[in-house]
Amino acid sequence: MKIGVDIDGTIKDTHRAAVEVYNKELNQSVRVEDVTDFYLDQAYGLTKQEGRRLWRKLEEEIYSLGVPLPHAAEVLNELEKRGHEIYFITARPGLKNIAKVTREWLKKHHFPYRDSHLIMDAQNKAKVAKRIGIDLFFEDAPFHLDKLVEQHVPTVIVDAVYNRDYPHPLRRIKDWREVYDIINEKS
Ligand SMILES: [Mg+2]
Repeated sequence: MKIGVDIDGTIKDTHRAAVEVYNKELNQSVRVEDVTDFYLDQAYGLTKQEGRRLWRKLEEEIYSLGVPLPHAAEVLNELEKRGHEIYFITARPGLKNIAKVTREWLKKHHFPYRDSHLIMDAQNKAKVAKRIGIDLFFEDAPFHLDKLVEQHVPTVIVDAVYNRDYPHPLRRIKDWREVYDIINEKS
C-alpha cells in the first residue's frame, strides 16, 4: 500500500513545540493543555492576521524542535519493512529553509525518509493523494480532512483535541500502534 502521512499533529506534537516557541517570543506562559483550537491565536490573544504573521516568523524554529508522537517512527518503519511505501505529505511551505528543517527533523527522529517521498506545500492533500495513488492517509487537521473526505481518499484521523467533534465518521487512532490492525484489515 501507499500510505500518506501528514507531519504536524500527525507524527509530531507540533502544538507543544509551538507553545514553547510562542511563550519565549511573547514572554507568556500558556500551557499546551489549555490550547484547544487548531490555531494558537486565541490562546495568545492574537488576531488572525497577527497570528499568521507570527507563525511565519517562528515556523522554522517550531519545525526544528519537538519530538515525534509516541511510536510514530517505530510503526512507520515497520510498515516500510513490510513493503508499504510511506509518503510524507505536508502543507508546510516549500521554501528551501523549511524543507531543510523538515528533512532534518524526519531523519533525526529516524522516520523512513526518502527525498522523493516528501511532498511540501500540499495545500490540497486530496489532489496530491490522488496523483500519487495513496491508499490510506493519516491526517489531523479538519481543513485537510474535509478535502480528503470530499474526494473519497481513505483517511484515518489522528486524534487531537481540535478534531474530536469532526462530523464525518472516520477511523480514529489515539496511538500509532493501532495502525497495524487497520492495515491488516485493508490488505
Ligand atoms: Mg497536521
